[in-house]
Amino acid sequence: MSESEAKPERRILKNPALLKYIFETSCFPREHEQLKQLREATVEKYPFWSLMNVPVDESLLLSMLLKVMNAKKTLELGVFTGYSLLTTALALPADGKITAIDVDKEAYEVGLPFIQKAGVENKINFCQSDAFTVLNDLITKGKEEGSFDFAFVDADKDSYMEYHKLLMKLVKVGGIIAYDNTLWFGTVAEPEENVENFAKESRKHLLELNSFLAADDRVELAVVSIGDGLTLCRRLS
Ligand code: SAH
Ligand code: CA
Repeated sequence: MSESEAKPERRILKNPALLKYIFETSCFPREHEQLKQLREATVEKYPFWSLMNVPVDESLLLSMLLKVMNAKKTLELGVFTGYSLLTTALALPADGKITAIDVDKEAYEVGLPFIQKAGVENKINFCQSDAFTVLNDLITKGKEEGSFDFAFVDADKDSYMEYHKLLMKLVKVGGIIAYDNTLWFGTVAEPEENVENFAKESRKHLLELNSFLAADDRVELAVVSIGDGLTLCRRLS
């Protein structure tokens, strides 16, 4: 297990032995070879930031979810080196399409060789841009409202509320919007004075998002305490 995968403080499950058990028994043996290599290359290139990749248990859940719902056309906000992107690309059918957005292309290029080796680059349209701009363009210029099956939201946490407004137009009724890191390493349940400064601002936005989504009757809601917290919203209307 890589060091970043083993850091229990960065995730909701705080029991390192249990985490190790789950990963080693059920997850690593099921991890796609190119995902494994992408993860290892990320740790090597970005020893600290590699913890931004979704963990392997969450990747397996996302993969199953995408297949169960027969997702074909998806959005990915926040790519980094592409662990969740490659997970999605492997789960979609041969004619699947992912619009993947990140302001940073350098990190994507670290993961790209593994995406190519996995033979799924053709499913990906990478846009180097601010996510807000691309989503707006998809609505106004692309006329792609109601056409996406799934969106994985993992970019700047401060903008999730704004993304929600746009994604509720772009994702079809019955489709799913998945928000990552919504439990913000557990800080959403801690008093603000106990939270480290670097985490305060995003925590505030995520608290607002979580309350908003709980009251948003346009979606069916499931908060999954996997990884750093994954909130699934199925669009109802
Ligand atoms: N989903 C990835 C990790 C993404 S990390 C995985 O699990 O493997 C978050 C990414 O969001 C970073 O690469 C960062 O560059 C990107 N990001 C931050 N603000 C953004 C914005 N406004 N628009 C698009 N991408 C953004
Ligand atoms: Ca994340």
